[in-house]
Amino acid sequence: MISAQLPDPQLQPLLYAKVTKYMLHGLCGADNPQAKCMVNGKCSKHFPKDFRERTDWAEESYPLYARPNNGLVFEHNGARFTNQYVVPYCPQLLLLFDCHLNVEISAGLETVKYLSKYIYKGSDRATMEISGGMQDEIKAHLDGQFISPTEAC
Ligand SMILES: [Zn+2]
Repeated sequence: MISAQLPDPQLQPLLYAKVTKYMLHGLCGADNPQAKCMVNGKCSKHFPKDFRERTDWAEESYPLYARPNNGLVFEHNGARFTNQYVVPYCPQLLLLFDCHLNVEISAGLETVKYLSKYIYKGSDRATMEISGGMQDEIKAHLDGQFISPTEAC
């Protein structure tokens, strides 16, 4: 299960404490135009998110998680955080690992293509050579090639 909401502090006090400690995006947008995440007047992480009553699937993107305008507000140092500022999380994992843990549902063709490319890209490599002579570009190109096992097959 993945949630992007403040839990009820009466029903789930421990989870509420973890969410408010780790899973809130700092105030930005019109509430704090000087925030670090602001680029050209907009939050680079697209916060604050719109309120929405239910989760909807978006094309070529992460789901649009339910963020109901249910009146729950977390106040900290004069800032007021609603469900619009909650980073998606998995309650079980958040309670287990006790740290910031952004969890998103990923589905769709683009995601599969990305994961496949990421898994089979091969290990990172670096080639360095110190020489005083001419640079052999053909040798450098051949040395820099990497063919993963799946590509070789
Ligand atoms: Zn932001």
